Amino acid sequence: MRHRTESAAATEELAGEIARGLAPGAVVLVSGDLGAGKTTFVRGAARALGVSEPVTSPTFTIGQRYAGDVPVSHLDLYRLEGAFDEEEPGLLDDYMTPDAIAFVEWPEIAGDGLDGVTTRVAISHAGGDAREIEIEEVGS
Ligand code: ADP
Ligand code: MG
Repeated sequence: MRHRTESAAATEELAGEIARGLAPGAVVLVSGDLGAGKTTFVRGAARALGVSEPVTSPTFTIGQRYAGDVPVSHLDLYRLEGAFDEEEPGLLDDYMTPDAIAFVEWPEIAGDGLDGVTTRVAISHAGGDAREIEIEEVGS
């Protein structure tokens, strides 16, 4: 489904609505250019899932795992650009667990190396603070 938001707060709210419909084990890919609002989306989703600590870009690590109503994993693969395949196998295993809901920024860097994808979110700039947000459930 295609959405349009006019502010970061609106993107967080939309993300929250989506997040409340997710089950443990969900894997949500969040793509878009730098500054599109991927981390903003994940922040809103994590908040709605009961995460109270600040959600920021995991710049110096591949990811973070937050405690919420369910565990919430936040991965950012940007750092792995060009090196995903050389990284040790199982790198993502601590984050992609059946009990957790995982959000992955820059998923294209993993190619088809991400299993169990349930949802795809694509965010694009639409002038000023406007964003187009396409949300697609992936059939299993
Ligand atoms: P990314 O993770 O995609 O690089 P961020 O979420 O870190 O992007 O940053 C998005 C920036 O754009 C933030 O400063 C945010 O406040 C701003 N912003 C403005 N309008 C929107 C919107 N409609 N949705 C999301 N972010 C927005
Ligand atoms: Mg980000």
